[in-house]
Amino acid sequence: MQLSQVKGIGLNSEKYLNELGIYTAEDLIEYYPFKYEILENTDHQTIKDGDKVVIGGICENKPNVFHFNRKLNKMSFRLNTGDFITNVTIFNRAFLKTKIDIGTVLTVVGKYDQKHNLITASNLKFGILTEPEITPVYHASFKINSSKIAKFIASALKTTKVKSLIPNYLSEKYHFISKEEAVKIVHHPNSKQELDKALTVLKYEEIFEFMFKIEHLKNLKQKEGGIQRNLDITKIDEFINNLPFKLTEDQLKATKEISEDMMSSYRMNRLLQGDVGSGKTIVAVISLYLNYLSGYQGALMAPTEILAQQHYNTITKLLPNLNIVLLTGKLKTKEKREAKELISSGKANIIIGTHALISEDVTYQNLGSVITDEQHRFGVNQRSNLRNKGKRPDILYMSATPIPRTYALTLYGDMDITSIKTMPKGRKPVKTYLKSGKQITEVLYMILDEIKKGHQIYIVAPLIEESDKIDLENVYKLEEKFTKAFGKICKIGLMHGKLSNEEKDQVMNDFKEGKTKILISTTVIEVGVDVPKATMIIIFDSYRFGLSALHQLRGRVGRNDLDSYCILISDRETKRLEVLTKTSDGFKISEEDFKLRGGGEIFGLRQSGDMNFKLADIKNDYNMLVKVKEDAEEFIKSKKYLEPENREITEKLCGHKELD
Ligand code: ADP
Ligand code: MG
Repeated sequence: MQLSQVKGIGLNSEKYLNELGIYTAEDLIEYYPFKYEILENTDHQTIKDGDKVVIGGICENKPNVFHFNRKLNKMSFRLNTGDFITNVTIFNRAFLKTKIDIGTVLTVVGKYDQKHNLITASNLKFGILTEPEITPVYHASFKINSSKIAKFIASALKTTKVKSLIPNYLSEKYHFISKEEAVKIVHHPNSKQELDKALTVLKYEEIFEFMFKIEHLKNLKQKEGGIQRNLDITKIDEFINNLPFKLTEDQLKATKEISEDMMSSYRMNRLLQGDVGSGKTIVAVISLYLNYLSGYQGALMAPTEILAQQHYNTITKLLPNLNIVLLTGKLKTKEKREAKELISSGKANIIIGTHALISEDVTYQNLGSVITDEQHRFGVNQRSNLRNKGKRPDILYMSATPIPRTYALTLYGDMDITSIKTMPKGRKPVKTYLKSGKQITEVLYMILDEIKKGHQIYIVAPLIEESDKIDLENVYKLEEKFTKAFGKICKIGLMHGKLSNEEKDQVMNDFKEGKTKILISTTVIEVGVDVPKATMIIIFDSYRFGLSALHQLRGRVGRNDLDSYCILISDRETKRLEVLTKTSDGFKISEEDFKLRGGGEIFGLRQSGDMNFKLADIKNDYNMLVKVKEDAEEFIKSKKYLEPENREITEKLCGHKELD
């Protein structure tokens, strides 16, 4: 229905509403309040100076009005609340003078000034509040205010049909009130309980719409054409059987899912997520081998030189008969040219590198598979560049930041997700302790023990330089302290974000090779770098980090069968940090983080705007998100979405063309 058909909306109002993104009567009734003002009588016993108060009472005198000028006036009167008498003043309400007299019952909203026994009122209502009064507040503009919008909505509600996108059987399952009722309540609630019920329905609906679309997209994507491979799978099995270790169940499952994707005629677009050390690399290598066997080039992109080098070494050992080429920004011009030639001529079977891999002057001969390691470190642009190299190569993203499934679905909605949840056998959990700043001596002895065993230690601090505002341990101060303590028995490395990439690589390499035994660093220490002898990580001011970030850091150690330790030093937020002492399950930890700090905190994506719900909030409505996702998945999987009774909903959600 057009806006102009709504009673009371003229041409101007229509224009102003358009500016707010409202074009139809349906838009208007789904223009939900962004908050509610709740008026509730203040308890007289608790009133203190400066409080905001809502107080009912009887007017004791004829109001006094003073006109400062034509635009400014002040009205004053005394109000008897039953418990006490107070003065009230309110500005620019002179027009109410004739309506207020001795004995008039009023409710005033304002601020209480004890010294002058005065309420400076911002609002005034006739009568007494018998129950809380809830007023919706709408995002408004200069041209059209919130109460005007409320009026238009009330008018539109009388004549506009409200259609729900929630399938009937789900509404029944949760005993939802009808959407029509819910919408009316949301715009004009009589009680909090009623409002809660209504909000539940409307939030459910918008999340359902979102989740349906994602699930449906996934369904469609299965039809996106890709490389159809033809090969003898026994060679893969042989390769797996000859590995120095047995793959974990989850690694096998991941391998299976990835191979199926690659063998099928559609294009793979999959995220492989798993805790640090869960063994994603070998899964990637298997897929690269499969890709090679079917006659294509494969590329593996890592976020840093050192990680690319590490992968190069690993993969060269695992696939000695293949031509594997390393391409990073660090190569000399001549080496780069040679590498690029090997790539474009097709002599290179597998190419490993940093984002130099996707620079424009790299041409692939026959790129069939692309993998990015530590996916979250790459920007979206790099992701799409990668997608466009070659002819529809299969794509695998790997990430060691496990994210709650629902959140992954929104951030990576277009991807399928495989999770490795189990660790390789024999891996011992990192013993994690929470210590206060005072217990540092104890910690120093623990460090000494590890050094004596020939092990290595990471020390992490949140800041680089001394900050006069907040007293945080910083790497320079720590370097000084630790050099005093251990300088005589071992070498200490220093790493932070202000070093050049070459310097960072140098510091990291020295540590990897055991030249330095202690590495003091900010959080820039490489994700994914394997330093087998590193058995201890100490994190100062750990309260400054999210749990997931701490868990990532902890993943630097415990990469083999040695006992390893993580020591969190903090005098604050110890309750939150305790989670880490109790579990080493990255998925659990990130869910906890998610609940405590919100999704944005985990990824530093607060502004990402990936989910712009009108009413729902991904953090506060987390439980609902999970439930709705399951419902939407089931709605599609069971093919209920194609049944006649749901046809209308489905058409609205995805348009009928895609239906068939
Ligand atoms: P991440 O998932 O963090 O990238 P990696 O792939 O680097 O982990 O694996 C960590 C270490 O575990 C490597 O040294 C790797 O060789 C080893 N590893 C991987 N899978 C297994 C397994 N199934 N059994 C034993 N060790 C394994
Ligand atoms: Mg890795």
